Amino acid sequence: PVHSLQGNVDIAHVTFGYSKDKPILKNINLQAKAGQTIAVVGPTGSGKTTLINLLARFYDVDAGEVKIDGRNIKDYLLSDLRKNIGIVLQEPFLFSGSIMDNIRYGKLEASDEEVIRAAKTASAHQFIKYLPNKYETIITPGGGNLSQGQKQLLAIARAILADANILILDEATSSIDTKTEFEIQTGLVNLMKGRTSFVIAHRLKTIENADVIVVVRNGEIIENGTHHEL
Ligand code: ATP
Repeated sequence: PVHSLQGNVDIAHVTFGYSKDKPILKNINLQAKAGQTIAVVGPTGSGKTTLINLLARFYDVDAGEVKIDGRNIKDYLLSDLRKNIGIVLQEPFLFSGSIMDNIRYGKLEASDEEVIRAAKTASAHQFIKYLPNKYETIITPGGGNLSQGQKQLLAIARAILADANILILDEATSSIDTKTEFEIQTGLVNLMKGRTSFVIAHRLKTIENADVIVVVRNGEIIENGTHHEL
């Protein structure tokens, strides 16, 4: 079993389609060195989500290969692979339970102190401490009693606690108030530090700070470079 992957990712000549007759991704080549941030940008429907979902093997490629640390991802146990990939989506999965348990979701053995430390690093502690029951506040189904931004902060805290070296992030597009926006930005910087991160980026800051920007159009990478180069 593999415990911790470093996070060197090599996507080589990858082609993929949800049905055989209609390729969505065509000859994708993309490398990320351990710790780098890759911002993936492009119009809606261009294949950004499809591309990053291949990393966690939600689907398998039709041709080409995806390697992590030099090894084809099909040669890892799926559970080992997924343990090494943290996922932060626009609409995180939240269940009816306490804030504490929701953050702990990815690492059940974590102590309360570890959860709180992760929340502080995620910049989530600020809002949690003002909730009526703090970390014991119960989240209603789907997180209805939390704002979109607060849900994102919990997802960031969860990913920090789970401590995977590879991250898949879908940056929120919804409007979020300035203070929460700042907290999310701080949390994301702390989360992404030292981890290989693939971000479907909407914020200019994220794009500017990325090591590599990849522009996807119609299932192909049409540009690949730094913010300075592009
Ligand atoms: P957005 O910015 O809107 O999220 P995207 O760039 O992430 O778009 P994808 O979600 O990867 O694009 O979609 C790429 C193409 O694949 C689209 O034509 C979409 O309709 C199609 N597609 C996405 N998911 C599926 C699926 N589960 N089954 C079939 N087709 C799909």
